[in-house]
This record gives sequence, C-alpha cells and structure tokens, in this order.
Amino acid sequence: MSIWERLEQEIERFREGIRELPVAPEVSPGTLRRELEEHFDFVSPVTLEDLTDQVIAFLRAYTVHVTHPRYFGLFNPSVRRPGLVADLLAALYNPQLAAWSHAPAANEIERHTLRFFCRLLGWDPDAAIMNFTSGGMEANFSGLLAALAFHFPESGAEGLRGIPGKPLVFLTAESHHSFLKAARMAGLGTGCLREVPTTAGFTMDTGRLETMIREERKRGTRPFLVVGTAGTTGGGLIDPLAEIADIAARYGLWFHADAAWGGSALLSSRLRPLLAGIELADSVTWDAHKWLSVPMGAGMFFCRRPEAVVRAFAADNTYMPSRPGEDVFDPYAVTAQWSRRLTGLKVFMSLAEAGEQGYAGLIERQAGIGEDLRRMLREAGWIVANETRLPVVCFTHRDIRSGRVSTRRILEPVYRRGRVWISDVALGGREKVLRACITSYLTDDSDIECLIEEIESARAEALADPAGVGE
Ligand SMILES: *Cc1c(COP(=O)(O)O)cnc(C)c1O
Repeated sequence: MSIWERLEQEIERFREGIRELPVAPEVSPGTLRRELEEHFDFVSPVTLEDLTDQVIAFLRAYTVHVTHPRYFGLFNPSVRRPGLVADLLAALYNPQLAAWSHAPAANEIERHTLRFFCRLLGWDPDAAIMNFTSGGMEANFSGLLAALAFHFPESGAEGLRGIPGKPLVFLTAESHHSFLKAARMAGLGTGCLREVPTTAGFTMDTGRLETMIREERKRGTRPFLVVGTAGTTGGGLIDPLAEIADIAARYGLWFHADAAWGGSALLSSRLRPLLAGIELADSVTWDAHKWLSVPMGAGMFFCRRPEAVVRAFAADNTYMPSRPGEDVFDPYAVTAQWSRRLTGLKVFMSLAEAGEQGYAGLIERQAGIGEDLRRMLREAGWIVANETRLPVVCFTHRDIRSGRVSTRRILEPVYRRGRVWISDVALGGREKVLRACITSYLTDDSDIECLIEEIESARAEALADPAGVGE
C-alpha cells in the first residue's frame, strides 16, 4: 500500500469508527515517554511507511478525541473534510504569506475569506483591516496592542514609561484568561486588568463599568480599553455589547469584542440578533477553529482602525520585498507574526464547499441540540445554571447544591468510562457546575442521551458511596 493509500484508509477508518473509540484515554506521562524512547532514538532511521503506522497508533490511543461526537468540551470542533484537504495543500506549496508579493494567490484567498466574515460583523471591509491569527490568544493580544497604539502613540517608542498615568483594561471574571497573558506580554502587567462585577446572569454589569471608569479617572489612571465577550468560555454568555459600546464611546475607550467562539452565531439569521452591538466594536476576535469545524489553529482578528494596527506592528526594513500597491498590506507589517503559513485556506475551502447557508444550518443544528440537552436535563431532574441560546449548557443538581455529591465525583466515573467528555466550571467564581458544549457538528440526540445516562449513573454511584472510597 502506498503511503497515500494508507493515509486515505486511516482518514476513512478514523472518521467512520470514531463513535467506537473512547473519547479520552487514561495514560501517564511515564508510559508515553518510555514508549517514545524505546521506539525513536533518532539514530536509526525509520521508513516513512512504518513511521506513519506508528504515529497513527500513538495518536489514536493517547489523545482526547475532540472530534468525537460525544466530546462535549472546550470549543474544539470536529473537522470537516475541506479543512483536511486545505491543510495538506498548504503544506505542499508552503506559501510564505509574510509579504504579499511572495504569495499573491494565498494572500488574496485569505483577504477574500476575511472580507466575508467582516461583512457579517456589519462592517465595511474596505474601511477595516483583518488577518488570520494562530488563535484567539493572538487576536486578543492584537486587539490590546492596537488599542495601546491608538490611545498612547508615544508608547511605540518609549514603551509604557512614555504613558502618563497607569493604563487600565476593563473586563469581567468571565472574560477569557488569555488577557492575563496578553497584559503581561504587552508589558502592562496583570495589574492593569480591572474586573467589572457581573450580574446574576454572569454578564458585565454596565452600570458598574461606568462607575468604575469614573472613579479610576478621578484617581488619575488611564482607562483605555474595555473587553466585551460574545460567548464566554465558561457559560456561553454574551455581555451587553451595545451598552458597552455606548459607554466606551462616551468615555473614549477602545471596545474590543472577544467573539472567539460565539462570533460564528453571526452566520445564523436566527442567532445573529444575540450579538447586536458587535458592529460598534473597534476590534473583534473570532476563531474559525472553534465553531466553524476547521482544524487548529485558525483565529481571525478584525479592526476598524487600520492606522492603529499599522502603528502597532510596522517594522521598516530593507530586505523584505516591497508591496505592489497602496491597497495591499504585507501581513508581516500589520500583524504579530512574521513568517506566516496559509492559515485561511481551510476556512476558505470549508466555507466555499458548504456555502453560507450550509454553515448556517450546521450552527443552528448545534444550537438546537443544545436546547434538546437543556430540556432533557430538566426532565431528568437536573438544574440548568446558565441562560443562553448558544449551545453551552451549565448544569447542576439538588444533590450537588446540597453538598451530597461534588462535580468531581460526577466527573471521575464519566472520565473512567470514556463514553463522553464533559467538564466543570465555577460560573462567576460562584458555584461549581457541570458544563457540556455541543462542539461537534456530528453530535446527535443519541449522544446527548448517552450523556444523561452517564451523569445519572455517576450520580447514583456517588450517592451509594458518599466517602468515595470505592468498592
Ligand atoms: C478560546 C477562547 C479564546 C482563546 O482562543 P485560542 O484560539 O484558544 O487561542 C479567547 N477568548 C474566548 C472567549 C475563547 O473562547
């Protein structure tokens, strides 16, 4: 069998047989390290055929299969076929996108794709600047840097010492924790982050946001950025984006909307109104590698203030090829990366193959299964703890609220059996609840029935053995 036939066979087998595989393996680092040391000393060469078989066996056995329809996890999707083909082609031609003139086709494919998503944001693509990123982390970091460059142009040369007063960022405890990293990477330090309290529904309390901005200003600090999340990681909740935009405008703050996961709801005309106000953001994070079912990493960054982005990322030099025209950007000069792979091809091919309506159908189907899960949980006596129309379902039980059973005691047997994968989260830093996200376009009602069976049997097990000592 040729290497290509072998690959083709594995692609079919893996995708067809995925439901039969355990979602998550139990394996220790020691086992993996011993196995690798035994088989791969990097001294005696291995044929590509053998190597391929070994890697297939290794990855199959020791991976949390996020493409499994019963992986109800952290926004990691099942991968549709165009994404596989695209990543292979990107590797084959290996276009270098850093300068437009080195990869004209690749750069224009990305631009064409990004402009589609830009229009869904309600923006004029001609007035915006946008790029693919490694993921949401890089996109959020880009937003922070653009906001800094916009508000404090002097910081480009002088660094933060050039800024009179302490720059501050407003977000909530439900915002993504990539902002901790971004704040440190920007040299601001995590001390620049101000947590705005959330309402009973775990979204930003905009009344408190306004009071905090006023108080900080009186104190002489420099509030410059507010982050609103459209689809929080914990609870799939959407901050009041239009209200945040209004306050940001009145106090002269940059508004960054982190729609890493939830942005894809814009593809559905039914769900789109939930994100009203995102069109008022100065910059937006939107990951394709979450709800759009393409392989990692494919984030997207959009900004309505091109001059700030240019200021943040420009790097004049003499060795890079020059750009062919004023209406063309060289990605290395307007993004955080230099060498740049063709990230956008998998998004381009997936979108072109399914079409906008095809995607809307997938998004709405997953949202519908989220609704089914909420209903079935309630019917089985569980309590839904978050209120959202997006398919993240946080739930608890009287037995958990009363302290008879912990979320850990539910998760342990669920992980041991490996039929489904769910997690837990402390919503709003308050109670610990269980969390299940419909993250695969392949998930169907039989999978959520299985989820209910699993948590019910785990609960029975925990009640029968309150100390958790086992048989
Ligand atoms: C996942 C996520 C991020 C981080 O994105 P990566 O692609 O993992 O780097 C940021 N914000 C939100 C809301 C997310 O859900």
